[in-house]
Amino acid sequence: MTNRERMTAAVLYGKEDVRIEEVVIPAIRPGEVRLRVGAALTCGTDVKVFRRGYHAKMIKPPAVFGHEFAGVIEAIGAGVSAWRIGQRVVAANSAPCGECFYCTRDLPQLCEDLLFLNGSYAETITIPARIVAKNMYALPDSLPFEHAALTEPLACVVRGMEEVPIQRGETVIVLGTGPIGLMFIRLCAEAGARVLAVGRRTERLRIAQRFGATETFDARETPDIVEALKARTEGKRGADKVIEAVGTPAAWETAIAMARKAATVSLFGGCPANTAVNVDTHRIHYEELTLKGTFHHTPSAFSKALKLIADGTVPAEPFLQHRALLQELPDILASFAQGTMPAIKVVVVPPQRA
Ligand SMILES: [Zn+2]
Ligand SMILES: [Zn+2]
Repeated sequence: MTNRERMTAAVLYGKEDVRIEEVVIPAIRPGEVRLRVGAALTCGTDVKVFRRGYHAKMIKPPAVFGHEFAGVIEAIGAGVSAWRIGQRVVAANSAPCGECFYCTRDLPQLCEDLLFLNGSYAETITIPARIVAKNMYALPDSLPFEHAALTEPLACVVRGMEEVPIQRGETVIVLGTGPIGLMFIRLCAEAGARVLAVGRRTERLRIAQRFGATETFDARETPDIVEALKARTEGKRGADKVIEAVGTPAAWETAIAMARKAATVSLFGGCPANTAVNVDTHRIHYEELTLKGTFHHTPSAFSKALKLIADGTVPAEPFLQHRALLQELPDILASFAQGTMPAIKVVVVPPQRA
């Protein structure tokens, strides 16, 4: 391949403006690896970015788009010795620098120079040298690309579980049954917790049950959701742990309201910029609440997540019930943005070359 070769890719231009175009495949530089994309998945973050037109940290338009993917290596830059053409891999959408204030304090997710990667809604994606070196993994032969592409969101959830560990026998409330909420439900059930799941769509609450939720609650049909959930906890005190996986200030407040004394509330869903929540200072002080935020993932969480998918601890197939061609992506993102998309995620399949 030469650097003048072209490919089909989705390009984000701005607010609700994603176009499928022919773009030049960049020449491969030292340390880089180029993948032929096997599968790319849609993500709530992409929908957020589509609505807003940019993401301050992750993507500035015009730019190729998409960050959950797996594929096969088709070209290797100078100096790369650990990988070979034809290997099937998953790469993370970021890698920390390893040298900054936060990296040297073992907080790589807060790296001051976190390098983000986008561009998986395309025929090929070039993996930057830093990600090749620190955050790319070989796939077991039997693992389909679309399953492996779930590693990124699961890595965020694995990190959430590391930050707020769940003990056997605890009562955990999970708010939200999107992909992230469902993954939390699975891992909390796996940890031996009694999981109470709150969602809004019947089919997702069914998946929550299949993933090990002890009880599920449809938020639309439960008038006082806080009291209804507290009523199902020991002594009606509230949950030992609450995990918020919705990403609105209202859901954060609901999550906090459902926690018992000395509980930890995992505030996982990112809210829009410049929003705030009201927290009763008495609850934090006299009831010893812990409020814990978690952002993104780390290389160690990413490799753990890949194992959890490969060994079936987190079943991939409920997330992958809808498939579409790359050309359909703008319509898919629009329908996610309008809330009319029934799919949890969509597997986006790039055009196949003869
Ligand atoms: Zn994602
Ligand atoms: Zn750093």
